[in-house]
Formats: sequence, structure tokens, C-alpha cells
Amino acid sequence: MDQKTADVNFDSLLRIFTVPEGPDSTLTQIEAKLSHNLNHFLREHIVAEEKPLREIEKDFSSPAIPEQPQFVSDHTQHLLDTLVSHSVHTSSPSFIGHMTSALPYFLMPLSKIMIALNQNLVKIETSKAFTPLERQVLGMLHRLIYGENDAFYSQWMHSANHSLGAFCSGGTIANITALWVARNNALKPQGSFGGVEKEGLFAAMMHHGYKGLAILVSERGHYSLKKAADVLGIGQKGLVAVKTDSNNRIVPSALKAKIAELKEQGIKPFAVVGVAGTTETGNIDPLRDIAEICAETDCHFHVDAAWGGATLMSNHHRHLLDGIELADSVTIDAHKQLYIPMGAGMVLFRSPEAMKSIEHHAQYILRKGSKDLGSHTLEGSRSGMAMLVYAAMHIISRPGYEMLIDQGIEKASYFANLIEQQPDFELISHPELCLLTYRYVPSHVKQALESATPEQQSKIHNLLNELTKFIQKRQRETGKSFVSRTQLNPIRWDERDTIVFRVVLANPLTTTLVLESVLEEQRLIATQVPSLMHKLEEQCAKVMKTSHA
Ligand SMILES: *Cc1c(COP(=O)(O)O)cnc(C)c1O
Repeated sequence: MDQKTADVNFDSLLRIFTVPEGPDSTLTQIEAKLSHNLNHFLREHIVAEEKPLREIEKDFSSPAIPEQPQFVSDHTQHLLDTLVSHSVHTSSPSFIGHMTSALPYFLMPLSKIMIALNQNLVKIETSKAFTPLERQVLGMLHRLIYGENDAFYSQWMHSANHSLGAFCSGGTIANITALWVARNNALKPQGSFGGVEKEGLFAAMMHHGYKGLAILVSERGHYSLKKAADVLGIGQKGLVAVKTDSNNRIVPSALKAKIAELKEQGIKPFAVVGVAGTTETGNIDPLRDIAEICAETDCHFHVDAAWGGATLMSNHHRHLLDGIELADSVTIDAHKQLYIPMGAGMVLFRSPEAMKSIEHHAQYILRKGSKDLGSHTLEGSRSGMAMLVYAAMHIISRPGYEMLIDQGIEKASYFANLIEQQPDFELISHPELCLLTYRYVPSHVKQALESATPEQQSKIHNLLNELTKFIQKRQRETGKSFVSRTQLNPIRWDERDTIVFRVVLANPLTTTLVLESVLEEQRLIATQVPSLMHKLEEQCAKVMKTSHA
């Protein structure tokens, strides 16, 4: 509302759809600052001091929809004070704990154009040029993975009755879509049987004589696969975890054995998911071996490359994903290592026919033979996010992405070396991509662990777990930097539950200096919990006593 006193008035309501506030309004000033220097804006408006979530909740405690309208400028100020100030500075060079990183500046104004156009990609009637654009983006990612020839893409990319994949809000929906296709292809129509999509899961399983259905993935599979198993009616127990080796990669012989075991029980394993870049450790499954096993056992081979897929942009490192081109389907998140804002995921299918098993039509839209994207997507109304991927591909280009990927991998390798040089840190998982895990272990504790009995080791590990938790939490709350934490079961420590720091080095602005100071800060925080350090001392003293006795 841009009138003098804020009250409900239809003329001013009409104005919010047309004329923005004057050039001196708070909103305009913010926009100017944002486009002038994004990082500066964020540094200025996100306050450093940690406010407990309970306190923040007080600002968001009223369930009443306001009866009184507010001026845009006033409300913007309110947002700055309550929301922006207590957001997370994900683009900070020292925010190295998650896959959410800094964004290229040009995506901000381009997003504004996208929102202004407000296209709905579900159907041509509300998207027009956005539909071929999205199909081209899917074609680009398809070619990056499968490398088909030009004739392939000119035949299929814009074909009304085919699709090379689906654009969606993220890796979760992409994984669900891939497994939906796999499930429907495994239980497809046959004679008078209409397929699982018509007859439902119970009838489909009766028809085929299956006692159950299973999806196999390594122990390091992403939790979104559990959701997929749940919504597809497979059940979470139908998501079968397969053993991993000391590098967190699926053990092919264990996979083979598991498939045989399930078949013996009358359960149909219809899909295997290979992970290209596990969320916790960034490792890549032996994709070629999995492809071979899938071919032998008639399983759909899906690769969850939500995070690691962007590695294909680097000619130096794409060999790490060798065998991905054999997958029936692949998930890639553009909002991870392609540096696109949240809400951009994709699933690609090797065969342009694959998505037929989930095709849906309706009378007023998605008519048969139309090019409406909505006939092959789980989601309905969808924004024009593909435009941002398209723009980034052109502006950054493949070699630009290659540099971004390469620098992340190099930095992770540098950080791993740095950790290994420290007498009081322990590298837990070596980086294959730009992700690693480690923990703080005071040097005398390291020594004691060497000669401790399994029982003593257990006690020490438990204390170290507490210490890691404390350091991570304190660093997040009061420190200059942020790393995340997770729990692993390293083979080196007899698969004990081990809490570790987890670092993702995607932000190109993160310097080696930042990495050094992360370790220094953690070392310092450890001194702030004398009680825990004292307990560790005691345990170590016991070890020394027994091992010398
Ligand atoms: C992030 C991620 C997902 C889930 O993607 P969302 O975009 O968060 O839905 C799935 N699998 C892997 C390996 C991931 O890293």
C-alpha cells in the first residue's frame, strides 16, 4: 500500500499490481544495495550474534491474519529486522558445512524476470517458449550424462510423445520420479492386466506372484529414497541397504548376494540405486559394476547423482563417475553444484520411451500429442526455474563449471592434507570430491587409542563423540565458521558409531586461510569444555596404566 495511512482500499490494492513504491522507498533502496554488492548486503543485514530459536519464535507467534494492511516499506523493514537478520549466511566463505553455497550475482535479477513472467511450465498454454527451453536444458544434462549424437537429440528433445527427463523441485522428487517409472515398468500392463498404474499395487503383485518389492541401495543412500519407497507403496522395509567398504562404496558381491536372497524369498528387486556423491562422505559407488549386475538381474539402474552429478562438467574428474552412462535414469540437482537457487532438480532417462509408464493426460490440458511437460511430471504447476539453469549454462559455460568443480576438489584435498598434518585432528573420510569428514582428537588421546583395549576404546570414543558434538554446536553458535556433523561407522574403528565434522567445499570464495582458521577455532573451543577434557585425561591415564602393567 503506498498511500498515507494504511487501510483497506481497492484503489491501492489495484496499485500493488501495477505501480511500485517511489524511488526512495525502503524496498527500492534494498534492491539497489542488493544489486550493488550482494555479499556486503548480506554481511550488513545478517547479525552475527546468535539468538536462541525460542527467542526468534516469539517474533512469529501470532496465528492471526492481519486485519490491518501495512505499507510495503514498513513491512520490508519488519522483514529485515526479524527474518533477514536471523537467517543463515549460507554464502559466507566460512559456511562450509552444507551443500548450500554462494550464488552467481546474475541469478538475482534474472529470477526477478522469471517471477515477473510467472510462467507455468505444466502446459504450453501458460509457458510457450519456456517449454522448449526446459526441454533443451533436459537435453543438455542428458547429453552431459549419456553423450548421444546430434541425430538423437534432434529426434527426441522436442518430441511430443517422448521426454528425456523431468525438471522438478529437487533431488527428492527426481528420485521418486525415477523409481516411479521403474516400478511401473516392472509391473506394466500385460494382456488383460492393466499395469500397476491402473490396477494398484496389490493386484499387480498378485498378477506377477510377487510377495514383495525391493529397491537396493548402499548403506549411505540418501533419506529421500526412504520417502520414495514409502509413497510408492514399497514400504521402507522394501528399501534394502547393502554393505559398503571402507571407502563408503557399495560392495558389488554383497549387492549380488542380496538380490539373489530377495528373489529366493519371492520378492522382486526392481531397482538398484547407485550413489554418485554420498551426502555424508561424497563417495561414488562402482557404477559400472552395478550396471552389470542390474543387466544380469533385470533391475532398473538408477544413479542418485543429486550432488555429485555436476562433476561430469569437469573433463579432469568425470572419469570418477565412469559407468553413469549405463544407468537407466540419473538424478542431478542444479541447486547443488550447478550453483542455482533452491528448487531446481532434474531426472534424466537414457531411453526417451521410459517415461511413458507414468504418462498422464487430462481433457483441458496435457492432451495426448501435446508437448505439455505436465504429462510426465509428478508435480503440477511449476515455475520457470529452467531459465536460470539455461542462463547459468550459457554465462558460466562448461569450462567455467569445470573450474568450479576442480577448485572444490583441489581445496578438499588441501584440507585433508592439512588435517592429516595436525597432531590433534583425525581425518575420517578422504575426499573423493569436495566433501570430507574428520574429528578433533587431542594428541595424547590419539596415542592412548593405539594401545587401548576394545572396552577402553569404546569409552574414549564415546567421550570423543560428546566432544565433537560440543565443538560443532559451539562453533555454529558463537564461532566465525560453520561445519556440519554426522555419524559414521568407520571400519578403522570397528564400525563404532563415530560423530564427525562434515565439510563441503563448494564456495569458490573459501580460501585456505579460512580452512586453517576453522581448525584453530575448533582447537580453541575444545579448551572451553574442561570437564569433558578431564574425563578424557582420566581414560587415557587408565590405558597407560594397563598397557604398561
Ligand atoms: C541432496 C540430495 C538428495 C535430495 O535432494 P533435495 O534436492 O534435497 O530434495 C538426494 N540424494 C542425494 C545424494 C543428495 O545429495
